Amino acid sequence: MSGSNNHIADNTEPYDKEALAAAAQRLQSGKLVAVPTETVYGLAADASNADAIADIYRTKGRPDFNPLIVHVSNLAAARKLGEFNALATRLAEQFWPGPLTIIVPKTPVCPAAPAVTAGLDTIALRCPAHPLMQKLLQLSGLFLAAPSANKSGGISPTIASHVSSSLGNDAPMILDGGPCHSGVESTIVAVRGDDYQILRPGPITREELETALGKPAIISASDKIESPGQMLSHYAPAKPVRLNVTKATAQEYHIGFGAIEGDHNLSKSGDLAEAASKLFAALHLADSSASTGIAVAPIPETGIGAAINDRLKRAAS
Ligand code: AMP
Ligand code: MG
Repeated sequence: MSGSNNHIADNTEPYDKEALAAAAQRLQSGKLVAVPTETVYGLAADASNADAIADIYRTKGRPDFNPLIVHVSNLAAARKLGEFNALATRLAEQFWPGPLTIIVPKTPVCPAAPAVTAGLDTIALRCPAHPLMQKLLQLSGLFLAAPSANKSGGISPTIASHVSSSLGNDAPMILDGGPCHSGVESTIVAVRGDDYQILRPGPITREELETALGKPAIISASDKIESPGQMLSHYAPAKPVRLNVTKATAQEYHIGFGAIEGDHNLSKSGDLAEAASKLFAALHLADSSASTGIAVAPIPETGIGAAINDRLKRAAS
């Protein structure tokens, strides 16, 4: 059993063979399972089971116009759900398994329940690298829809106890794989013929994508409509959040970075990957502290810093 709050039923299972087999069985019978990935903990369900998908939306309190990412064990499996042109194939070959979600047109035989894609004719696919999620995909033989395992609009969970404290009595079985490595949600790229668009910055950086594909991402005003769930207020702590703060007030919990010490430092050496992996845990800590507000030190916009600042802006709005 790993640390969840005392007042909440603890459904957390350590990561072992029996727990994995039980989890796979639950998924096959249409139940939900919370599972770590290299980004954040996901709330997984059989993507082809409409009732199970409805249960994800219900458990998260997620608006049904916000489509889900489907997790697959490899590119061959992904091709059953989505049409991979040359550019999409290149992305998958280069970055899978890993924290990259690729949006492609649905195949005519796509088995995902309609609610997974919220009625869109495209589908968001990801092949995760985390060994636990990979084993679960293989053992269950399913395609797994899995948004972050928290109440909609809340802070994403990066340790098992974040899941139980966010979902409370609605929490399903939780597989505890320890802290998530990346700590921010996957980069989302939409494939548009021979071009591509970044719909959500994440651990795979713009620079890496541009280097791999040999051309810049396209920028378009239609992003907001195309990516329905990317509402501005998201990842929101209960307290007001101020950004780019070098000196916090006495009432604020100060999240520091580099030389700006703060009450809790994301990375004293100024390492952005370390900061990303600690970001949501720091927001959880700040939110449950006695302070009345949260202040965050400036974070550089380079590399994964773009993903950190994206999440912070949503937290502050
Ligand atoms: P989450 O599950 O919270 O990581 O959110 C997944 C996000 O992926 C959603 O909020 C959408 O913005 C995006 N998404 C999923 N499917 C599609 C799609 N077919 N087209 C555009 N965006 C999508
Ligand atoms: Mg989420």
